[in-house]
Amino acid sequence: MVGAGPVGLLLTALLQSVEGLSVRLYEKRREYTRTRMVQLAPYLVADSVESYRADSIDGDSVEAIFDPPELDEGLAFRQAIPSDLSTLLKSWVLGFCPLNSIEQSISDLIDSRGSDGVERTAGVVTAEDAMAMLQPGDVLIDSTGNRSLLRDHLVPGSRGADEGANTLNVRLEYALVITFLYGQPYDCNEYCKYYKNIENAHYKFIPMVHRTHYDGSVSHVTGIVNISADDYEAMPSRFDGEWLRGNVPGVAQSMDRFIDKIKQETPGEILGDLEIVRIPLDLYRARNATSRQLLTVGPIDHPFARSPVFLAGDSAIGSPYFQSISLGFECAIFLAGLIAQRDLPLRDMLDRYELHIYKQWLRVYMRSKMIKHNKDLFESLDDPLALLEKLHIY
Ligand SMILES: Cc1cc2nc3c(=O)[nH]c(=O)nc-3n(C[C@H](O)[C@H](O)[C@H](O)COP(=O)(O)OP(=O)(O)OC[C@H]3O[C@@H](n4cnc5c(N)ncnc54)[C@H](O)[C@@H]3O)c2cc1C
Repeated sequence: MVGAGPVGLLLTALLQSVEGLSVRLYEKRREYTRTRMVQLAPYLVADSVESYRADSIDGDSVEAIFDPPELDEGLAFRQAIPSDLSTLLKSWVLGFCPLNSIEQSISDLIDSRGSDGVERTAGVVTAEDAMAMLQPGDVLIDSTGNRSLLRDHLVPGSRGADEGANTLNVRLEYALVITFLYGQPYDCNEYCKYYKNIENAHYKFIPMVHRTHYDGSVSHVTGIVNISADDYEAMPSRFDGEWLRGNVPGVAQSMDRFIDKIKQETPGEILGDLEIVRIPLDLYRARNATSRQLLTVGPIDHPFARSPVFLAGDSAIGSPYFQSISLGFECAIFLAGLIAQRDLPLRDMLDRYELHIYKQWLRVYMRSKMIKHNKDLFESLDDPLALLEKLHIY
């Protein structure tokens, strides 16, 4: 396993308890220090098909894309998760939590189960290292995130030289992800998003409904503001409220108006400063999420034609709008379920993982396009003609 981010760690913890397997886990970071807050989707701990489909945006897509036996199998894989790990998962779907504590808790869990079966190595792994390390019987999993180490190596003839050869990318928009802490309870729904932005003709701040979390004394609020490609180019990757005020006053004024309206409801103060990250919101997938093609067409001396390779997490699929970890976890649970079936022929394992990833891609593609479309409509709610131009009715 190369990459011990949340997905590589979850997969390691799942495979650690499979009899007859041992895991070598490589990670270049020496410690876990990420500061962002994330939310995991409740479908990750669903115990019935109904609860798996409970999401209001993609519940119907799930039914349309997956056949009933596939949904049943997904539930069975979920139910086989060891209880120490499923307890953690259940606690994370309850609210907004720090990514750092997700990473640290799974890492600690792996260590606390004893060193048997998992060997951890710190350091950067190159594609050449990964190829040289492979021994007969090994399975190589690339969980190195969106700049995947091996994605471009899975296309016959590419050998990693052709960047993007194996990636389908859809750029939905550019956005600022803005997070702040508020010293009072604050919750939000679609009406709230509308009324708090009513004077913001541009740069509406859209908190994600579940991204406002009150932890007893402080509300954590995260949301996004759509920006142009030119705005994006002119900004540093990360900055604070002061930089925003000095350089992009339009967004700062929009935030001020939004925050003033929160204060009118529940008199409180912003604690600390705004934390702002600018990101392109990309929806992408690896066209090949495994080494299946290399296995089929070779060349036969290629190390990946002899040992299977799987992409997991952001290596395989990436999506915006705060869904990506959940999707990565979902695919990791499925992959661990396949690998645990020790008598499953390799070819079937590769085919089934490819199909599963493709179906999860369809699901997240539709969900993301729907969210983007809804956001576009929302931006024009005060301008009926602009709104009508964005509607495709029949
Ligand atoms: C600002 C922001 C907010 C986000 N909020 C949310 C959210 O609310 N909900 C959500 O679902 N998602 C969110 N995401 C996305 C989420 O963080 C990712 O989907 C998730 O971290 C992906 O997990 P991963 O394990 O696949 O990859 P990563 O987290 O990227 O982990 C990859 C790991 O591999 C290691 N690595 C990479 N290359 C090598 C190498 N060559 N050798 C050794 N190790 C290597 C890295 O150090 C890293 O630890 C957010 C992302 C951003 C940027």
